[in-house]
Amino acid sequence: MLSVSDAFTLMQQHVLTLPTERVPIHDATGRVLREAIKADRDFPPFDRVAMDGIGIQFADYSAGQRIFRVVGMQRAGEPQKKLTESTTCLEVMTGAMLPIGIDTVVRYEDVTITDGQATITIGDVEKGLNIHAQATDRKAGEELLPVGTWMGPSEMAVAASVGQTELVVTALPRVALISTGDELVAVNETPLPYQIRRSNTYMVQTVLLSLGIHATMHHITDDEAILKTEIEHLLANNDVLILSGGVSAGKADFVPAVLTSLGVQQRFHKIEQKPGKPLWFGTMGNKTVFGLPGNPVSTVLCGCRYVLPYLRASLGLAPAPVQYAQLATRIAFRPNLTYFLPVKLTSETDGRTMAHSLPGSGSADFANLTAADGFMELPASQSEFEAGEVFRVWVMPGTVR
Ligand code: AMP
Ligand code: MG
Repeated sequence: MLSVSDAFTLMQQHVLTLPTERVPIHDATGRVLREAIKADRDFPPFDRVAMDGIGIQFADYSAGQRIFRVVGMQRAGEPQKKLTESTTCLEVMTGAMLPIGIDTVVRYEDVTITDGQATITIGDVEKGLNIHAQATDRKAGEELLPVGTWMGPSEMAVAASVGQTELVVTALPRVALISTGDELVAVNETPLPYQIRRSNTYMVQTVLLSLGIHATMHHITDDEAILKTEIEHLLANNDVLILSGGVSAGKADFVPAVLTSLGVQQRFHKIEQKPGKPLWFGTMGNKTVFGLPGNPVSTVLCGCRYVLPYLRASLGLAPAPVQYAQLATRIAFRPNLTYFLPVKLTSETDGRTMAHSLPGSGSADFANLTAADGFMELPASQSEFEAGEVFRVWVMPGTVR
């Protein structure tokens, strides 16, 4: 059985190689860049007026002049104008090109204008005030967004501003979510007394959507022959299969044997952790199969702790920033396993993040998870965890909390 970190490392050694694709900018949100984006012109592209006010020649001001006759206006979106007469000024608007002959802008808040005469009411005007000089942010040709960038709000704005109508991004993997189990019925069915509705695929779907991955959903009964036929078909048409259930020690847990018989190479089966000990992981060429344990808490934990970082890396994204929290109350966990404790996180005024334990009634208690933000990873090497100790937390994605 592998430790959590060995299992994680092994998975990272088998990340997918995904092709690139060119997408219109409208569809690029949340995607991962595979071709760097460069500045097509300087940022800003011209000396830009940064405040609404009046534009003057600093030489006049330093010679003691405080009253300037207003001779015109330079608005944003107009070609550059010119201040021809010294000792006069132009009204200038934010976003406008700085007119020729002007080197200083004084805000309306620092000026009174009456009868076409602007009087400067502050005493500390400096040359170049309120001017956003050409190329101060970035120079033409400079790399703005490197390969591996996740296209969030500011990245999208940068891409748009340089005229990038199309972006080269990592193609999304084709992912199939497969529930297994004879006891499971569809959401729209009424379960018989010995049945339950299947819910795991919806849970994992939500986790995957945080990476923009839309998976297809399937269900297969616990029949070895049917499992084999259906999985073979799904393997042929997908890059990633994520199965739930059928990987433990039960008499109907055929998934590992079926996968092996189809030529999927088992990379590991079982991790020294609770919940989620029976996790199965295998590869076949550039395809990957995750066999997640069926207990819902195990399923979502494995989805967040292993599947999500695996897919992130496959897309060419750097790992998510590590998150830590402080345990709010003492916890004891004796087995020599890494314990993933469901926690509610709170942010304190002193900047600490506290993790409040929500142990619930075990790995089948997923109703309890609705109160949780994620899992705290309590190392196998310890069995007593004191209040105030700091450990890593894995936040459940896909939801706004
Ligand atoms: P298994 O891993 O197949 O032994 O399943 C472990 C437990 O998880 C059983 O109680 C199953 O009924 C339950 N389970 C498995 N798959 C699902 C699913 N898709 N939705 C809800 N519960 C499930
Ligand atoms: Mg089962």
